[in-house]
Amino acid sequence: MGNIIAVLPESVANQIAAGEVIQQPASAIKELMENAIDAGATRIDVTVKDGGRSLIQVSDNGKGMSPDDAVTCFERHATSKLHTADDLFSIHTMGFRGEALASIAAIAQVELITRRPEDELGCKVCIAGSKLESTEKIVAEKGTRLSVRNIFFNVPARRKFMGTAAKQFQAIRSEFIQIALSHPECQLSLTSDGIVVFQLTAGNLRQRIVSMFGETLNKSLYPIEVETDVIRISGFLADPQASRKRNAEQYFYINHRFIKHPYFRKAIQSVYEPLVSEGMQPVFFLFLQADTDTIDVNISPTKTEVKFENEQIIWPILQAGVRECLGKYNAVPSIDFDQTNAPLIDVFHPEEDIKAPQVQYNPQYNPFKKTSGSTSFQPRPSFETEFKEESELYSLSDEQADDTQEEVLQPLFEEDTSKMDLSQVNQLFGRYITVPSGDALLLIDQHRASIRLHYELYNQRLSAHRTASQTLLFPEEMELPAARKIDFDSIRTALEDLGFCFETSVPGWVSITAIPDIAQGLAPIAVVNGLIDSYVEMNTDNHLQGAPFLQERNYRLALRMARQSALPYGQILSKGEMTQLCQDLFQLELHNLTPDGKHIILSLSAEELTRRFN
Ligand code: ADP
Ligand code: MG
Repeated sequence: MGNIIAVLPESVANQIAAGEVIQQPASAIKELMENAIDAGATRIDVTVKDGGRSLIQVSDNGKGMSPDDAVTCFERHATSKLHTADDLFSIHTMGFRGEALASIAAIAQVELITRRPEDELGCKVCIAGSKLESTEKIVAEKGTRLSVRNIFFNVPARRKFMGTAAKQFQAIRSEFIQIALSHPECQLSLTSDGIVVFQLTAGNLRQRIVSMFGETLNKSLYPIEVETDVIRISGFLADPQASRKRNAEQYFYINHRFIKHPYFRKAIQSVYEPLVSEGMQPVFFLFLQADTDTIDVNISPTKTEVKFENEQIIWPILQAGVRECLGKYNAVPSIDFDQTNAPLIDVFHPEEDIKAPQVQYNPQYNPFKKTSGSTSFQPRPSFETEFKEESELYSLSDEQADDTQEEVLQPLFEEDTSKMDLSQVNQLFGRYITVPSGDALLLIDQHRASIRLHYELYNQRLSAHRTASQTLLFPEEMELPAARKIDFDSIRTALEDLGFCFETSVPGWVSITAIPDIAQGLAPIAVVNGLIDSYVEMNTDNHLQGAPFLQERNYRLALRMARQSALPYGQILSKGEMTQLCQDLFQLELHNLTPDGKHIILSLSAEELTRRFN
């Protein structure tokens, strides 16, 4: 009885393997959709409930399975697609490990209904936790329907850490979109908790892109076609103007497989770089076709990493192709691509171009700094970056704040505000409000002060559902492509609490009829899109549920909104406005920090000044 080694039971081995293949409901969707495509389906319908946690169902009209195969397919390494190890390298079908169904069956309750066109009757197979529960002959449609219930029901640890339904759904949607783009010839639908998210007819790639990402994109899509010995490139590039600050649609496929390839992404980005303002991401849908023996498909479970034998050769081909395409369609009329330092062309963003006064001042200038001798006057960065995106605005002011925060200037925490002499308020550099207070001088950052005030207001509105709007004279029509509709719907009430009003009578569009009363002069479409983006990002990077989720959501929406509607730097203020701002600010309990923890007020004491002059 000295033996201690035991072979793991098949079901345990399957569970372990499943952990690699099926990390979340979205991975099951991917595998099941790929199987359907491999089975020659021209129509696939995906239904999920509760972010795929309670149900994932994929129905296809493909070639179906024989009653025997319907059982065998759940065995590990059961595949009709791979017969020798050599096949691994020349494989053209989507899945090829014969592991997906075995893995799914190991960690969920699965029901398979399938019928081949030539069979009169179909069959139904039920299997749960790798245990075959029943098989029966039934009347069924041609094709296959796989229903996966209660994923990870027998792996409690996994189930617990799955994250919110919203987060799961987001991953499902990404997988769905990735497959939808590479198979426009296939009719597809995605339904989540009874809501039809996508209903896509069969068509060409352009139609598929437009039906998911909206008509507006249509006119900025330029076809690209490059044919060389090593590689074939096809697909669409979007005009530089369609670039986005975040969440840009960037899709890159190799031999129809969606992959992430940072190296090639950089090649594309580098062509766009001189044509867009900093940090903007181009939109593209690119399909590369190469001989399979030049590609090393990393046979990892997620299969999104790929290596090419000759990446250095492909890089310039890709770059030249992208350049030529953009040049051909006059996306860049006057650019000389042979110049290494191509001229910077200002991109006009009608939606985002907010007119605000431009004030030049020297951001490095610091009257309190000992070593300020060498600072030369520098104009602010471009108007566009300055007023368009608060993050840049922040990075600028942060550097400055860090520079100035020597011991001279003390962040103000507790101050007796009754000593403030508001008759002596002044504005400095179009950025700060100065006000003497007792034996100190307070410097108040006007933009940050205003962020704090607006934040409080928005946050209150979000939690109390009390709102104030100003009606737009001309409602703005915002496109709401299928890919974004569900996100809009989930935060619509919150947006309405903030002060927006919407009308949704035309499918695919929403009319913005009013904006928050304190958000004058903002571009409504850009702002609403930005808020939707914030929400999407939040779902991607946290696992909160219930009250903490709402709290986090409100924080992000209120802060984003506050940053945009707050008084900008450069705005000249009257004495009355400054007084009002100071009074309002000091009424708040948290008057000295922005919601994200940046100082609003610095204090310079008379004592410190005297010391400096000695
Ligand atoms: P693989 O796709 O790598 O072969 P899977 O576990 O995903 O492995 O599927 C096992 C086998 O089951 C497939 O090779 C195929 O023969 C069969 N199969 C799976 N899904 C379908 C489907 N939707 N229609 C027809 N056959 C299918
Ligand atoms: Mg498969």
